[in-house]
Amino acid sequence: MQISEEEIRKRQRNLKEKTELLKELGLDEELSSASDLIEDKEIQKMIKKHDYKCSYNACPLNFLTFGLDEKDELIQFRTSVPGDHSKHCTPNRKTRELIYSQLPPILQDLLPNKALADYEIAEDKKIAAMSPEEREAYLKAKEEHMQKYREAMNALKNKQKAL
Ligand SMILES: [Zn+2]
Repeated sequence: MQISEEEIRKRQRNLKEKTELLKELGLDEELSSASDLIEDKEIQKMIKKHDYKCSYNACPLNFLTFGLDEKDELIQFRTSVPGDHSKHCTPNRKTRELIYSQLPPILQDLLPNKALADYEIAEDKKIAAMSPEEREAYLKAKEEHMQKYREAMNALKNKQKAL
């Protein structure tokens, strides 16, 4: 691979450029096409499993979902499709961040969204703009909401078991 970091950044401005760049690098849009460049076997497995299961149109682990414009700002080429049954990426944020952290630099450069989904990037921006008090209240409310969700799911599971 003789393409410099600079060149990689420069060629993500639109979908066509990025597609051509991937072709030159011998990759397709799926992260698993770069399996040879990933040393960790566990990470390779996680990526294969992801590619098999995820059908989110704006998948954050797909090379063609995000790029960079001429100011190095993140741009999104793909968005979620209304009516699409898949509304998120299958691995959770923690798993995706782990995958990203284990990628060689060239692949990290090809995922300028750092493996974060559009809704996570939007939420991070919202949280960053909050005052510390607002942030605390927001995160607390979110955790409570998640807790209620988990309890409801557990209750449902127990109910099914009892039947
Ligand atoms: Zn995905």
